[in-house]
Amino acid sequence: MRLRHKPWAKDYLENQPEYVLTSLAQKQQNWREIFGNENPLFVEVGTGKGQFLNEMSKLYSDVNFIGLEKFESVLVTAVERAVAGSSPNLKFILGNAADLLDYFHLGEIDRLYVNFTDPWPKKRHEKRRLTYSSFLALYEKVLRPGGEIHLKTDNQGLFEYSIESLSQYGLMLKNISLDLHQEEQCAKNVMTEYEEKFTKKGQPIYRLEAAFPNKI
Ligand code: SAM
Repeated sequence: MRLRHKPWAKDYLENQPEYVLTSLAQKQQNWREIFGNENPLFVEVGTGKGQFLNEMSKLYSDVNFIGLEKFESVLVTAVERAVAGSSPNLKFILGNAADLLDYFHLGEIDRLYVNFTDPWPKKRHEKRRLTYSSFLALYEKVLRPGGEIHLKTDNQGLFEYSIESLSQYGLMLKNISLDLHQEEQCAKNVMTEYEEKFTKKGQPIYRLEAAFPNKI
């Protein structure tokens, strides 16, 4: 992703404590207490500009959504959208997926979305892919029993790698699609900003759902 530096982004985010957690001092929140209800918690890692979660939070008001993004210049757009839409069930974290355990308690998350994450095609960068085993180990800890990972990507290489990595880790895969937009399950699909971009170019979208077997 090409980043446009926004020198005001840090201040903007820090001035929206209702929508975004920016400080490590606030880590290990009790998210259900913060949302003020016992609704399921769905988290998107690498949320980008937040199109997906902003729309999901409107469609599913009985679910709490959190978007995690490492770049403030990108996250600022997601938070601006949330402020304009004033969704009480949507919040963001400025942080790295590698630090998930700093932000969530064990078994706290009901579903993790991994949408169009950076493919890191070079073998030497494998550990940076958000479906590398070290990330799966984190997901296993923060997901509740029966919790799922939902993944979408335009990148065939990352998809094939993810199927292998998830399977080797022992996850059960289901609802695998090699061209999501041609499928019936697409009727309820909410597009992310990257998905919209690649779909307009005519590229197929790959999708899968996965769960840890001992957690079902
Ligand atoms: N999910 C959005 C979508 O589908 O349109 C954005 C996709 S964009 C290609 C990937 C995003 O993930 C970028 O904004 C990037 O900064 C973020 N990202 C990559 N690695 C991350 C990590 N380890 N922790 C948090 N965010 C990360």
